[in-house]
Amino acid sequence: MSTAPTLADAFIARRRIAGRVLRTPLERSASLSGRLSAEVLLKLEHRQSTGSFKLRGATNALLALDAEARRRGVVAVSSGNHGRALAHAAQTAGVRCAICVSGLTPANKCAAIQALGAELHIVGRSQDEAQTEVDRLVAQEGLIEVSPFDDRQVIAGQATLGIEILEEAPDADTILVPLSGGGLAAGVALAVKAIKSAIRVVGVSMERGAAMHASLAAGRPVLVEELPTLADALGGGIGLANRYSFPLVAALLDEAVLLTEAEIAAGIRHAYVEEREIVEGGGAVGIAALLAGKVRPGGLTVVLLSGRNIDMTIHRAVINGASALPSA
Ligand SMILES: *Cc1c(COP(=O)(O)O)cnc(C)c1O
Repeated sequence: MSTAPTLADAFIARRRIAGRVLRTPLERSASLSGRLSAEVLLKLEHRQSTGSFKLRGATNALLALDAEARRRGVVAVSSGNHGRALAHAAQTAGVRCAICVSGLTPANKCAAIQALGAELHIVGRSQDEAQTEVDRLVAQEGLIEVSPFDDRQVIAGQATLGIEILEEAPDADTILVPLSGGGLAAGVALAVKAIKSAIRVVGVSMERGAAMHASLAAGRPVLVEELPTLADALGGGIGLANRYSFPLVAALLDEAVLLTEAEIAAGIRHAYVEEREIVEGGGAVGIAALLAGKVRPGGLTVVLLSGRNIDMTIHRAVINGASALPSA
């Protein structure tokens, strides 16, 4: 087993992906700061190219491949946003790309992956089932797998977010990040804690199918049933053979909280009505956790908004008061 990624890997990633990903703004939320009587900053990473932070890790992982690996091409399982990000990075580099998703993946995310020239495989009703197609493509067609979260270069790429946040808000003492497979939380936590050890990092997931939360409680990766949720980007397992993201999250995360669908809907609404931002469910959980009172804000609190690729019909329904997926 190779070693876990470090702050040095994050700085290498930052140089590697410079010019290929946006440096997103960090802005004060007047509305949340007023409501919570604490300074709250929003890292507007949902404005990243391809609509999510996943472009950082996917671009870093793709550019770190050697010529032989690039000739073979890449394959990944995805809840949608990693697939879109990897497809974008692969298309830019002229590399073959196959993305395997489950039937739970929203149609708008599937369409975006195909529009970037990737081969899309829709398999089963969970990401664990879609993973079997990844394994087949690796074995039969020699593609190189790029995990959405359990990959050193992916975690190092997501860690560039932690560096950016502390460059602009060196006094930050709490950071809220959405939590699924843990690539984002592991990357952000490893970077910010290497720079400032006292900083508190909180992971936020949904009640419906929180595999990392259950794994942290069990002390080892466990399987959880995948369910439809407004936070579709946070669905899926963490891999029973998880190597990097689970140990890092277990060691570095200070708190992990769970949200109901109604709380996530309130986060999406707040982002739109108060912040004038379109944010997907998985991206709005940090706001939602503060609004629900499930996370006590610190002195200077940073909320990472991670993605915006919500189906706009669902977004309209939520803005108009819906508190769950129409199907759920
Ligand atoms: C993937 C994703 C997450 C969760 O990231 P992990 O690294 O799997 O924990 C959060 N928000 C959005 C929008 C995502 O696409």
